[in-house]
Amino acid sequence: MSFPNMEEEVVIVGAGICGLATAVALKRVGIRAVVLETASDLRATGAAILLWSNAWLALDALGVTDKLNLLYAPIERGFVTDVKTKSTQQVVYASKERDGPRLVHRKILLQVLVDELPPDTIRFSSKLNSVESVVEDGHRISVLRLQDGATIKAKVVIGCDGVRSVIAKRLKLSPPVRSGRSAVRGISVYPTGHGLSPNVQQFVDVSKRAAIIPLNDKEVHWFLVVQKTPEDKDIGNDPESIQREVMENWAKDFPLSYLDVVQQSDLSTISFASLMFRYPWDVVLGTLSTENIAVAGDAMHPTTPELGQGGCMALEDAVVLGRHIGNSLDPNGKLRPGDIGRALGKYAGERRWRTAWIIAGSYLSGWVQQDGSGWWMKFLRDLFYKTIQTRVISLVHYDCGRLPNRMGTSL
Ligand SMILES: Cc1cc2nc3c(=O)[nH]c(=O)nc-3n(C[C@H](O)[C@H](O)[C@H](O)COP(=O)(O)OP(=O)(O)OC[C@H]3O[C@@H](n4cnc5c(N)ncnc54)[C@H](O)[C@@H]3O)c2cc1C
Repeated sequence: MSFPNMEEEVVIVGAGICGLATAVALKRVGIRAVVLETASDLRATGAAILLWSNAWLALDALGVTDKLNLLYAPIERGFVTDVKTKSTQQVVYASKERDGPRLVHRKILLQVLVDELPPDTIRFSSKLNSVESVVEDGHRISVLRLQDGATIKAKVVIGCDGVRSVIAKRLKLSPPVRSGRSAVRGISVYPTGHGLSPNVQQFVDVSKRAAIIPLNDKEVHWFLVVQKTPEDKDIGNDPESIQREVMENWAKDFPLSYLDVVQQSDLSTISFASLMFRYPWDVVLGTLSTENIAVAGDAMHPTTPELGQGGCMALEDAVVLGRHIGNSLDPNGKLRPGDIGRALGKYAGERRWRTAWIIAGSYLSGWVQQDGSGWWMKFLRDLFYKTIQTRVISLVHYDCGRLPNRMGTSL
C-alpha cells in the first residue's frame, strides 16, 4: 500500500522496540506520530529479551507494565559456571527482588506497545530510502522518500531504524563496527514442563559465553556468544545448521544440561547475528539531532549485548524524548518549530554519555568474561564476578524519569 505525497507532524522510522515505544511516549504527551516499517508485519528477531529495572521503569512511564507484570516475574539471581574448572559463582542481580531483570517474549512486548496506539499508526511495507531537508515557510522540514515511490513531508523525524539506520547516515554518524563476536539465540519448548529453577545459568569458556534462562514453566531461552575469527566458516541462516554448529562445535564441551536445552529448540526461534556496536566516542562526539531530526535506539547506540541493555536503552530513549518534546509544546499542545530543535537537542544531550558508558561497559564486560585464556585473564574474570560485575550492574538500575502530562505535571 503506498501513501503518495503526504504531510505528517511526526514520522518515526522503524517499528522495533524503540519506534513503538517512542510512538507510545508521544501519544501520552498528546502528539500523534506515524511509524514507517520496512517489514510487512511486526519483526521479533531474537525471540526473547532480558529487560532490566531501567527498562521496567521506562515501561511503567509508558503505562504498559500492568499487562507485562502478569506474565513475567523478576529473576533474583544467576549462576556462572566456568566450563573448564567447573567452579560456579553466584550473582545477585538486585537488592530488592522486584528490581531483578525479567525475560520477556519480544513479540509480546511489541504487541503490548502496539495495543496502546491508534490502529492506523504503523505503515508496514514502507521502507525509507532517503531524507532531504528543505525550508518551507521559513522552517526546516524533512522530505522522506520511500522505496515504493511515495513521498512524505514531516515536521519532525525520529530515526528508530536500527543498526543500519538511514537517519543515522543522514546525520553523518560514524557507521557501527563489527565486534568480532557473534551470537546464536533460541527458545526451547518442553510441553510437560522443564523443571528448571527461575534463575540465569551462565557458562563461560575461552571466547565463549552461553546461558539458559526460563521464560515460563514450559519455555527456556538460550544463547551463545562466540568470538569468531575471520577464518571461521559462514554458518548461514538455516536454523538446523546453526543448531548443529552450536551442539557439535562451539558448545560441544559445555554441560549436558545446556546441550539438552539447545537440542529441544523450536527451530523457528533460532537466529544468528554478527554483533555490531558504535564506538562510544562516536556517540559522545557525533551529531545525534538537528533542528527536526533525531535518532534513538540501535540507530543511535548499537551495543554488544553483554549487559542486555540495547532494548532497555531504547525504552529509556523513548521516555526521555517524549518528556522533552512534551515539555516543549505550546499551551495548545502544538509543536513549535524552534522549540522542537531545542527539545531534540536536550534529549540528545541527556542520552549521549549514558548510552556511551553502557556501550563501553558492555564491550568490556564481554572482553573480561570470554576473551583470553592466560592466568591474568582468569584472575580478572574472578575479580569481575566478585566485585566489578556488581558495579557494572548498577548502571542498569537507573530511572530515566516520567512523562509530563498536558497540564505540565508528571504522569
Ligand atoms: C544477541 C543479542 C541479544 C540481545 N539481548 C538483549 C537483551 O537481553 N536485552 C536488551 O535490552 N537488549 C538486547 N539486545 C539488543 C536489542 O535487541 C536491540 O537493542 C533492540 O532490539 C533495538 O531496538 P530498535 O527498535 O532500536 O531497533 P530494531 O529492533 O533493529 O528495529 C528497527 C526497525 O526499523 C526497521 N527499519 C530499518 N530500516 C528501515 C527503513 N529504512 N525504513 C523503514 N523501517 C526500517 C526494521 O525493519 C526494524 O523493525 C540484544 C541484541 C542481540 C543482537
